[in-house]
Amino acid sequence: MSYDLIVAGGMVITARKSARRDVCVRGGRIARVGKTTKRSRAWAKRVVDASGCLVFPGAVDSHVHLALSIGPGMRTADDFDTGTQAAAAGGVTTIIDYTTPKPGQRPLSAFRDRRKEADWQVHTDYSLHNVLIGWDPSWREDLKSLVKQGTPSVKLFTIYADRGWQADDGMMYQVMETCRDLGIVVCVHAENDSLIKLHTSRTLKLPRDRRPNALGLALARPPLVEAEAAARTILLAESTGARLHLVHLSTRRAAELVGKARRMGLPVSGETCPQYLALSQKLLDQEDGNLWGCCPPLRGSDDRDGLGKAVKQGFLSAVTTDHCTFTRKQKNTWGGDFLKIPYGLPGLETSLAVTYTLGPARGNIPVNHWVKIHTEGPARLFGLYPQKGVLQRGSDADIVVWDPQASRSIRAEDLQTKCDWNPYAGMQLSGIARHVFLRGIEVAKDSRFIGPGGEGRFVPRLASKAPKGRNT
Ligand SMILES: [Zn+2]
Repeated sequence: MSYDLIVAGGMVITARKSARRDVCVRGGRIARVGKTTKRSRAWAKRVVDASGCLVFPGAVDSHVHLALSIGPGMRTADDFDTGTQAAAAGGVTTIIDYTTPKPGQRPLSAFRDRRKEADWQVHTDYSLHNVLIGWDPSWREDLKSLVKQGTPSVKLFTIYADRGWQADDGMMYQVMETCRDLGIVVCVHAENDSLIKLHTSRTLKLPRDRRPNALGLALARPPLVEAEAAARTILLAESTGARLHLVHLSTRRAAELVGKARRMGLPVSGETCPQYLALSQKLLDQEDGNLWGCCPPLRGSDDRDGLGKAVKQGFLSAVTTDHCTFTRKQKNTWGGDFLKIPYGLPGLETSLAVTYTLGPARGNIPVNHWVKIHTEGPARLFGLYPQKGVLQRGSDADIVVWDPQASRSIRAEDLQTKCDWNPYAGMQLSGIARHVFLRGIEVAKDSRFIGPGGEGRFVPRLASKAPKGRNT
């Protein structure tokens, strides 16, 4: 039987090794990775010449916010349609977004609502994390059902008490116990709400001439805010035996705490984002610094270097984007008040190029490790492996053909995202996704979305095996 597609002559990069191989696809799956004969190439429906290129699995971005409303007139520029086009253009073929429950809404109902929003317009495969706003023990049944439907992860916030979103320590403990029993990963946005309030009020009390602009965001959330909450959350996870994943880590200390927990054998993992590895908080301290407002805020060089090291040492298992796009106009509604900046940065379309530039292109991390943190790492964390995150027989044929020699200067107008500015504008980034395939269908070429449209699917994920409970 002939193949539908052969990606031939490229350097296939896995988490462990690199080898010149041909990747053969049939029926949307990888049929074979190896050497092909002239004859089988002649019989294949399509052969893509990948010589000089790196070939690796489509990236999995497990932290994305599309079609998110945070208030009147504040809906993200990217919805599931444009956001997944941007993702595909950048080499990301699976995203995990979040449910958006209204106060008091049960998790199962929030999940159904979100699927109705996303299912018909996604161009990459996708899944959802279940956001928990409040907790009622009867919701355990909802979570059980959600595991069966393939979304074995929840998300809690240690902040946003004023919006009613905060999971206090008691709630977190109960949720962790339940999730431990059901094999659910508990994702936590860890920052200390009370310390943020203290530092915010101190920042606002500064005399007018010393009152900072958008940099106030960073002053109100010093690194301790994240490190303290990470430490507390890790202790709760250790005590309950729950599987914990700390999202968008921005500080060296929090990343080190994750590394320490992992060395102790605790089921704890963490991620960081390209913006925390590449961008400096100095960007906030300029006239349009409000554009760079995100939460947690951008940091100084100590944290950036520390995070880079944590990625290199394997303390952090994934790089995700926290893609959350607000236009220049939306960002400019802040009126000089750093508390009113709509937080978030675009990232889906540039994440691979940013981290490739910082990492393998400069010899900072091996290319295999770079591939791992964007593919196998997040796929394993969230129950997508080996369907996603690996090029092996039987896996989905999500394939990126990456030209490491190409480079481009980032301009917002060249990108697919509907965000009309870009935090990396003007930067020279190495590497371009020449071809991106989703289950064997070409969805992007030369970093442009070309897919026929609507080829994305909801992908059920597998629950993790429940670790042994400790309850100490
Ligand atoms: Zn987020």
